[in-house]
Amino acid sequence: MTVWVLGDQLNLEATPLQHEDHVLMIEAHEFGERLPYHPQKLVLVFSAMRHFRDELRERGYEVTYICAEMFSEGLDRFYDATPGTNLVMMDPPSHGAGERFRYLVESRGGSLTLVENDLFLTTPAEFDAWAGDASSYRQEHWYRHVRRETGILMDGDDPVGGEWNYDDQNRETPPDGWSPPEAPRFVPDEVTMEVIEFVRERYPEAWGSLYEFVWPVTRKEARQALDHFVENRLAEFGPYQDAMVRGEWALCHSLLSAAINLGLLTPHEVVTTVETAYRDGDVPLNSVEGFVRQVVGWREFMRHVYRRSMPELTTANQLDQTESLPAGYWTGDTEMNCLSETVGHVYGHGYAHHIERLMVLSNFALVYGVNPQELTRWFHLGFVDAYHWVTTPNVVGMGSFATDVLSSKPYASSGNYVNKMSDYCASCPYAVSETVGENSCPFNALYWDFLKRHEETLRGTGRMGLMYAHVDSKDDDEWEAISERAAKIRQMGRDGTL
Ligand code: FAD
Ligand code: SF4
Repeated sequence: MTVWVLGDQLNLEATPLQHEDHVLMIEAHEFGERLPYHPQKLVLVFSAMRHFRDELRERGYEVTYICAEMFSEGLDRFYDATPGTNLVMMDPPSHGAGERFRYLVESRGGSLTLVENDLFLTTPAEFDAWAGDASSYRQEHWYRHVRRETGILMDGDDPVGGEWNYDDQNRETPPDGWSPPEAPRFVPDEVTMEVIEFVRERYPEAWGSLYEFVWPVTRKEARQALDHFVENRLAEFGPYQDAMVRGEWALCHSLLSAAINLGLLTPHEVVTTVETAYRDGDVPLNSVEGFVRQVVGWREFMRHVYRRSMPELTTANQLDQTESLPAGYWTGDTEMNCLSETVGHVYGHGYAHHIERLMVLSNFALVYGVNPQELTRWFHLGFVDAYHWVTTPNVVGMGSFATDVLSSKPYASSGNYVNKMSDYCASCPYAVSETVGENSCPFNALYWDFLKRHEETLRGTGRMGLMYAHVDSKDDDEWEAISERAAKIRQMGRDGTL
């Protein structure tokens, strides 16, 4: 058998590679034209694949590496040269992908065996046994279940430190003058430079900058990135996890999602490394628990919720939101400090941290009324760590509340949240304390207008009572002014004058 290794399965420890020594890899270029993907995403995937090919060869594997327009063309060439070959592949997490690959292979006279994907901490069978026939899920319950089952951050039957969650210690903003430890930078080698040139020429429509490419593209670099994070940034990751600071795109976040999603690191080793640092006394528990929850809780949870909610998840739009993305998401050219700063991070690095994604980029789109599918497409093309299985539930479910499958209320807020967690508002031309009027923060009127427009769906949902008490306290004149201001902001968003 030959192991077919996909571009997000770049792990030498993967089970199929322990049993076979022939490998097939196909670099499919037309795929990169389906959306104007961030050029750093394209460089990352192609460069990581080529480095993995070289590493496999160094270790004695016989690798057939095909550069083709599409997988179908790559398979044509493979089967012309080696008719009847039986392939084995780890089951890809994106919906229907395994079956589509099997069809392509079988129609060329081969066979494709799909085996468990080792690059997750939990299996579909484990989640299904836990969830039963439920059709909506809550991350916190799953997270505790996984910790109990795996023993991660557990002392016997109890969570380490006595609490499951230290979020109340993880909502700080850094003092004035603070700056984060520098993020690691991996200088592109010859292989990456060649890919950069290729991407520049081949994908002129790509959205984003290729000015600075610093992502890890090999297993060795990814491991260095993990160790660098644990030694330099993890201690402050917890307290500043939700903070946003002007001019700082990375803060103390790990920047590991792209490497984990490619397979260069496994979630298991990431979590074990972080736990070991805690047990060695090097880092505080609130940072460690906060990080472990992202990986063991959220990442695994999203994978399974996606798996069980597809294909309906892709088209979900329970709030019937129809607006197009405001022009500023494409140009970064907006007076809104929070939005221009955050879009700048995405354009420059293919990255924004979680709170920027959730409480700026998707929160604004949510209260503005953006169609969730359009927003998902934007996230999908703009981020180096974007893959259908992880971007879709995060944007459609968590960011857009287009379904209640993974949360009982929307992550919607006024400008108050941004003001509390960032230094953006202090120098913004818009006034965060005002809801209506020329200068008022666009988040504010849109937020109240959002609550009013979706009252029927939202009033009864869990934990929205307090918000609707505020809604009820506003009189007709206030609502008229809010609605006018919201309409004006939407028009400015369409015109690119926000
Ligand atoms: P850290 O803040 O250091 O967190 C550690 C790790 O936890 C991450 O590397 C990641 O592997 C994992 N993680 C944390 N939250 C999530 C989550 N909600 N879902 C999955 N993994 C999580 N993550 C992606 O990998 N790809 C995406 O396309 C993506 N799109 C998102 C879109 C929206 C609207 C939102 C709200 C979140 C999205 N996320 C996505 C989740 C999360 O924001 C990123 O994983 C994280 O910001 C990556 O940066 P980091 O590695 O520095 O993470
Ligand atoms: Fe963003 Fe409003 Fe603050 Fe300006 S005032 S940075 S628009 S939240």
